[in-house]
Amino acid sequence: MKLIFEKSREGRVGWTPPEKTVDAKIRIPEKMLRQGIDLPELSEVDVVRHYTALSRMNYGVDTGFYPLGSCTMKYNPKVNEKACRMSGFCGIHPYQPTDMTQGALELMHELEKDLCEITGMKKFTLQPAAGAHGELTGIMLIKAYFMDKGEHRHKILVPDSSHGTNPASAAFCGFEVVQVNSDVDGGVDLKHLEELMTDDVAGLMLTNPNTLGLFDRNIVEIARIVHSKGGKVYYDGANMNAILGKCRPGDMGFDVIHLNLHKTFSTPHGGGGPGSGPVGASKELEAYLPKPTVEVRTEGKGRRFFLNYDRPKSIGRVRSYYGNFGVMVRAYAYIKALGGVGLRKVGENAVLNANYLMKKLKSHYYLPYDRTCMHEFVLSGRDQVHDCGVHTSDMAKRILDYGMHAPTIYFQLLVEEALMIEPTETENKDTLDEFAEVMIKIAGECRTNPELVKKAPQNTPVKRLDNTLAARNPDLRWIHR
Ligand SMILES: *Cc1c(COP(=O)(O)O)cnc(C)c1O
Repeated sequence: MKLIFEKSREGRVGWTPPEKTVDAKIRIPEKMLRQGIDLPELSEVDVVRHYTALSRMNYGVDTGFYPLGSCTMKYNPKVNEKACRMSGFCGIHPYQPTDMTQGALELMHELEKDLCEITGMKKFTLQPAAGAHGELTGIMLIKAYFMDKGEHRHKILVPDSSHGTNPASAAFCGFEVVQVNSDVDGGVDLKHLEELMTDDVAGLMLTNPNTLGLFDRNIVEIARIVHSKGGKVYYDGANMNAILGKCRPGDMGFDVIHLNLHKTFSTPHGGGGPGSGPVGASKELEAYLPKPTVEVRTEGKGRRFFLNYDRPKSIGRVRSYYGNFGVMVRAYAYIKALGGVGLRKVGENAVLNANYLMKKLKSHYYLPYDRTCMHEFVLSGRDQVHDCGVHTSDMAKRILDYGMHAPTIYFQLLVEEALMIEPTETENKDTLDEFAEVMIKIAGECRTNPELVKKAPQNTPVKRLDNTLAARNPDLRWIHR
């Protein structure tokens, strides 16, 4: 396919302004004249066809199944997009006086209350712009808490089955990261935890369900062990769709949590944002949450929402303004539309779908942790490597040939040749069956025609790229070749 610049022909235009009807001297400033700027010249139909063709080469949640583990690439109801594009929401400026933004503040306040109810936490901040940003904020709360108490704790414990951002966030906040091993069941090794949990440990960050897609059976005991030595427990709730409406981290004893609104609560993601990673704190830690917070007071017969900067123990601002507001509107619309019963169904269907697929695939791929999973599960391509010389990366490319997106691969690090599959709650049985069929077919191809799998993909606009070179030196003309 040609670049739009290559399709350009001198003098071709998309729109012709009407003949001059007023005789006024309008001088376009020199620097704004078109000369010297290499803009493509095309007609309207050229432009429409060019971009439509490009859009058809793309793949997204709106085009097909996207089982990218740990990412929750689910379908998001379009009505929520409509809500966040309402002019009253998308036209306001963050510096407008709060007299003029009462509705937006009310929405933020309501959303915060809903998130408290969903997670069992005392108070939330909506400022963090992503999951990892939420983790950093949460760890800063823990740090501020211990500084306030005059305790010097310089370590954070992180299980080896946690999401990679957990140790990164703790290290970024100046803590020494100490790894806790998993047991044979895929949960935290309690004996190891007990050994490591000393009084210089500020806390433990737990991804739950962990990156094996497993709910830690000892979660209450884990929180108890950490608390018994004065530490705090952090819950990575990025994959909240696994437990929505079923159980609450606050009830399990967690002190801090972050959520990913752009995974669980209806904001499409990928490509770098915008996201939102609200952080919830327990009663003990709420004073350290970022400021301003959105508060409400009664005034006469009504309620008045305001931004509260009077928070002496707060860690301060973690983001400009108040966070990514459009993401909050979608989450609000999603939560209100589903209600408690609907949110619980989200959790149930996410888990049901993952277990259904796991059952269908486990006789074709090695399943290292064979127990009921949550919203995702991790298969291993170990047998395909050993028996047929085909790697997980080859199989992932072959999935593209069948018109579907590949799962996450080579992450979970505890599993050799990992395939991390998250179907999400929004897929129906037909789609799950179709994907299972593709995966089973590919397992067969590995045995009968391994070369075919190793040469995949063949049916995509681009064939196999050099991963490193393609990222460093993108060649936008590739489709020519
Ligand atoms: C996605 C994810 C994160 C990071 O979220 P970002 O918004 O990408 O920063 C953290 N933890 C878990 C478990 C995740 O799945």
